[in-house]
Amino acid sequence: MSTLQSINARTGEPHGKTLNASTEQDIDTAVTEAHAAFATWRSSTGVQRAELLEALAKGLEGEREKLVAWADLETALGPVRLNGELDRTTFQLRRFADIAQRGEPFAVLDDPAVAGGPPAGHPAMVRQRVPLGPVAMFAASNFPFAFSVLGGDTASALAAGCSVVVKAHPGHPGLSLQVFAIIQRVLKALDLPAGLIGLVQGAGVETGVGLIRHPLIAAGAFTGSTRGGAALQAEANARPRPIPFYGELGSVNPLIALPAALAAKGGELATTLAGSITLGCGQFCTNPGLLVLIDGPETDTFIDQLTLALTKQQPHPMLTPGMRKAFDAGIKRFMEAGARSLLQGQGTPPAPGPQLLQVSAQRFIERAELRDEVFGPSSLIVRCASVDEVHQVLDAVGGSLTVTLWGADEDSADNRALVRSASQIAGRVLFAGVPTGVAVTAAQQHGGPWPSSTAPMTTSVGDAALERFLRPVCLQDAPAWLLARKGVPC
Ligand code: NAP
Repeated sequence: MSTLQSINARTGEPHGKTLNASTEQDIDTAVTEAHAAFATWRSSTGVQRAELLEALAKGLEGEREKLVAWADLETALGPVRLNGELDRTTFQLRRFADIAQRGEPFAVLDDPAVAGGPPAGHPAMVRQRVPLGPVAMFAASNFPFAFSVLGGDTASALAAGCSVVVKAHPGHPGLSLQVFAIIQRVLKALDLPAGLIGLVQGAGVETGVGLIRHPLIAAGAFTGSTRGGAALQAEANARPRPIPFYGELGSVNPLIALPAALAAKGGELATTLAGSITLGCGQFCTNPGLLVLIDGPETDTFIDQLTLALTKQQPHPMLTPGMRKAFDAGIKRFMEAGARSLLQGQGTPPAPGPQLLQVSAQRFIERAELRDEVFGPSSLIVRCASVDEVHQVLDAVGGSLTVTLWGADEDSADNRALVRSASQIAGRVLFAGVPTGVAVTAAQQHGGPWPSSTAPMTTSVGDAALERFLRPVCLQDAPAWLLARKGVPC
């Protein structure tokens, strides 16, 4: 039987006893129970869904101290960040509780009958939505609360009326079990089926692959690397009955700083940017990994200011030794592809130091490996000779969760063209501030074209995350009793 182990992220030492990975039988049991629970949960009311989500939020808060201690031990993210992330997680659960209670999942479009023949005449039609079914949810390493067992995917799927089987991330197995224990207690207290939220664990690809292949799974929701997401999407598509797969993946998040912005407040922007590059040891999908700058004196000064600001940053250790290795290998790959190092921080082992590299736009466009995400506290400056080259660089990136555009304050042909290029490749375009920090709100869009996401029409953060787990159904000439359900599925 394969096993997994909780590891102290600061020392690399094993913590606690070895855990058994879920077997094929365990996965089958979890999915079968989730499928049975879905039969009733799909027709639950908004009030029932809100009651569960609120109780889960309270459950997390009730054990805050213990959970944050576990999370800190397994991730080294520190209590301040982790308490904040727990707050965000309960906020998400409560926001989806409110969305369910307000009846959002049951919204109907009523299209009354029109007398006469087609095409203008038609029967009475009502368009409503039904939940997809049991969702396979893949937790992320870098958000042990907000994108994990009770994270946004689980909250939005439950609010939509789906059941969930979580594949916990092997980077925080102890924390995942603690959170799962809270879930089990809450489900029992509310007299809901224990299988409504299941959990499987494993430290190899078999567990996730077994889960996404299971014939009773109706959708996948994934937060993680582009490579992992691509592999699981391929599995979802290769099933005898392919299923929707919502993968939120890695991203380089280009930040374009126009000379006007740098001339106005380059020093301040450099300090803000250095903080964003090193925040959480750079382990954010929205980390500004690519700085697109136009040659000129303002840019030269800004690079000096940024280098200096970065030397003052001391990132904490990375989530796992594997991530540290991947970070070092990524920097080496950049240098082999022609990037020049401007700052090679040594860090305090095992924590890495900040890294700043530079490459020409032409080289960046030629070498695909320079467009890969390097997960950690680093950024690659791409030097452009003109605004035209900025467009070419964005085209080469192709897809990103965000693009930040500093200095586009005036309505001009150049700025319109830059907004067009940025919107073409990103889900969120920022005109101030930094891309790290993703607000949980109605207008949020967290998902962009490949390779940042497998489903750029959807978002994994914000209210619209719910939409991923609902499928439209048109009821034609439906009987009165069915219409009286007002969008609540049978
Ligand atoms: P990861 O290595 O892709 O792991 C995520 C999950 O997928 C784990 O449970 C992993 O399980 C599983 N997995 C990976 N490859 C698989 C495969 N080939 N087949 C089946 N399962 C597989 O990612 P991570 O280490 O958690 O996170 C780092 C990455 O996530 C970064 O690239 C970051 O940018 C991205 N991220 C994106 C977002 C977003 O919202 N877009 C948010 C946070 C992080 P095993 O390890 O057990 O195989």
